[in-house]
Amino acid sequence: MLYEFKDIKKDIKIEADLCVVGSGAAGAIIAKEIAETGRRVVLLEVGSYFKPPYYGHNVQEGLEKLYFQRGFRSMLGKSSIVTMQGRAVGGTTVVNSAISFRLPEWIRTRWISEFGLKFSNTALDDAFSRLEKNLNIRPTQPDVLGQNNLLFKRGCDQLGIHSSPIYRNERNCKACGVCLTGCPEGAKLSMDLTYVPWGLKAGMDLYTNCQAEKIILEKGEARGIRGHFLEPDTDQPGHAIEVKAKLTMISAGVMASPIILLKSGVPNRSKMIGRNLLNHPGTGMLGLFKEVVNAWEGANQGYESSQWVRDGIVLETAWGPPSIASIRLPGFGDKSLAIMKKIKHIGSFGAMIRATTTGRVISTPGSYNPIIYYPLNQHDVGLLQRALKYTAEVNFAAGAEAIYPMVHGLPEVITDARQVKLFEEVKLKSTSVNLIGNHPMGTCRMGEDPGSSVVNSNCESHEVKNLFVCDASIFPTAPGVNPQLTIFAFADMTSQYLKKRL
Ligand SMILES: Cc1cc2nc3c(=O)[nH]c(=O)nc-3n(C[C@H](O)[C@H](O)[C@H](O)COP(=O)(O)OP(=O)(O)OC[C@H]3O[C@@H](n4cnc5c(N)ncnc54)[C@H](O)[C@@H]3O)c2cc1C
Ligand code: SF4
Repeated sequence: MLYEFKDIKKDIKIEADLCVVGSGAAGAIIAKEIAETGRRVVLLEVGSYFKPPYYGHNVQEGLEKLYFQRGFRSMLGKSSIVTMQGRAVGGTTVVNSAISFRLPEWIRTRWISEFGLKFSNTALDDAFSRLEKNLNIRPTQPDVLGQNNLLFKRGCDQLGIHSSPIYRNERNCKACGVCLTGCPEGAKLSMDLTYVPWGLKAGMDLYTNCQAEKIILEKGEARGIRGHFLEPDTDQPGHAIEVKAKLTMISAGVMASPIILLKSGVPNRSKMIGRNLLNHPGTGMLGLFKEVVNAWEGANQGYESSQWVRDGIVLETAWGPPSIASIRLPGFGDKSLAIMKKIKHIGSFGAMIRATTTGRVISTPGSYNPIIYYPLNQHDVGLLQRALKYTAEVNFAAGAEAIYPMVHGLPEVITDARQVKLFEEVKLKSTSVNLIGNHPMGTCRMGEDPGSSVVNSNCESHEVKNLFVCDASIFPTAPGVNPQLTIFAFADMTSQYLKKRL
C-alpha cells in the first residue's frame, strides 16, 4: 500500500520483518526483492511520489522539488563543488541520466584483494545480467542520439580513440534531453517506475514524505526506525512514525545514511561513519560548431569514451538545459547574450575523473542536511587537467570552430586547435575550474576489517546486529564509471543474503 502525507491522520506504530529507509537505487531493489518473498516490508521515503511528466521542461521547479537543497548542495574544501542528490520516490534515479556501466574488472579485483570483500565475480555478473534485463539496459539507440552525441563520436573517430553509445536504462526514449528534472515521457526506467511499483504489487508498504530520524537501538541490536512525516511543501514535521522491524536497512544515500547512523548513536569505533567520501568530479566544455547542433535534441548523455578509463578519466557527452549550460559560458549581460544567441550551434562534452581525494560528511544539530568537506588533492587536479585537454581535442577534432574552456588562466575562447597545448601549460588549481561531483560514494565503507570499515560484505554493521547499510555509501573506492548499476547489483546481492537471514 502507498501512504502519502495526506493519508496520515495520527501517530503510527507498525511492525515489519524489514524496514528500509530510502527508495532510491539500492532501497527500492531491496524492498521489492524481500516483499516478493512474502515478508512484511515497510519502505520509508522522505520525498514525495512524483509521476511523469514530473517537472521535465520546468528546470527551476524540477530542481526545487526533486532535489535535496534545491540541487545546490556543495562540497567545501579548497573549492566549492556542487553535488546533487534526488529527494523523491526513486531517489536520484529519477533525476539521473540513466547511464549504466558495469563495475570494471580491475576495480572489483581491488575491492576483493585490498578490502577483503567477499563476493564472487559470478554472483556479481549474475546480478548485473538480471538488472540489465529488468531495466532494459541497452546502448543509446541510433534514432535518439542527436547531433551532440554524433559530433562527439566524430571527434573520437578522427582522433582514433575509443567511443561507444552509452548503455542506459530506458524504454522508448524520446530524446528530449531533460533527464535531470525527471523524464516527462516515463521512458527512463528509474526506480519509481520499476522496482517501487513491483514492490507495492508484491505487498510492501511505502510511506512517503516520511523522514527516518533515529534507528531504534536496544541491547546492541537494531529494532527499527523512528521518524516524522513532513508536510510536502514546507517540510514542517507532522505525525510521528515508529516501525519495529526484525532487520533495519539504511539506504538513504551517501549524505543521509551516515547522518542517520551518527544521530542514532551507532557506535563508531572505526571512526569511518561519514568519512571516506569519494567522488568523480567532472566538468563540461562547450564548443561552437558551424553546423546546427540543437544539443537539446537527443539523449543528454548518449556517447562516451573509455579510452583512458584505466587512468581514471572517462569522457561523456553532457547536455543540460540552456539555463544551466549558460553557467559554462564566459561573460555577463550583452556578452553572455551574444553567445547564447548561438546556442543552436553549441555542443557540450564533459569529462569526469576517478578521484583519489577523500572527504567527510559532518552531522549538524537540528538538521539532516550535512556539511560536506571534500578538499580536492593535487593528484586529482592533474588528472582533471588531462581530462580537460582531451575534451578540447575531441571538440576540435569534431569540427568545433571555437571552445569555451571556462578555466581560470586560459583565454575565454580558443579558436585554434594548436592552442590546446595551453591546457598542458596552465597552472591548474582546484579553484581554477567549475566542477560538479554528482557521484558521491563511500561514507559507510564496506570491508571485512571492523577497524577500517562500517559494514561487512553482507552490508551488515560491524557494531550493531540486524542493522544494514546498502547504497552508494558502501563503496570502498571510486569505481571510475557511473555508479548506479553497481549500486543496483550490490542491492540485489544483499537481498539474496537477506532472504536467507529473515
Ligand atoms: C544529476 C545526476 C545525474 C546522474 N546521472 C547518473 C547516471 O546517468 N548514471 C549513474 O550511474 N549515476 C548517475 N548519478 C548518480 C546516481 O544516480 C546515484 O549514485 C545513485 O542514485 C545513488 O543511489 P543511492 O541508493 O545511494 O541513493 P539515492 O538514489 O539518492 O536514494 C536515496 C533515497 O533516500 C531518501 N532519503 C534520504 N534521507 C532520508 C531519510 N532521512 N528518511 C527517508 N528517506 C530518506 C532520498 O530521498 C532518496 O530517495 C547521477 C546523479 C545526479 C545527481
Ligand atoms: S532523453 Fe529520453 S530518458 Fe531522458 S528525459 Fe528525454 S525521453 Fe526521458
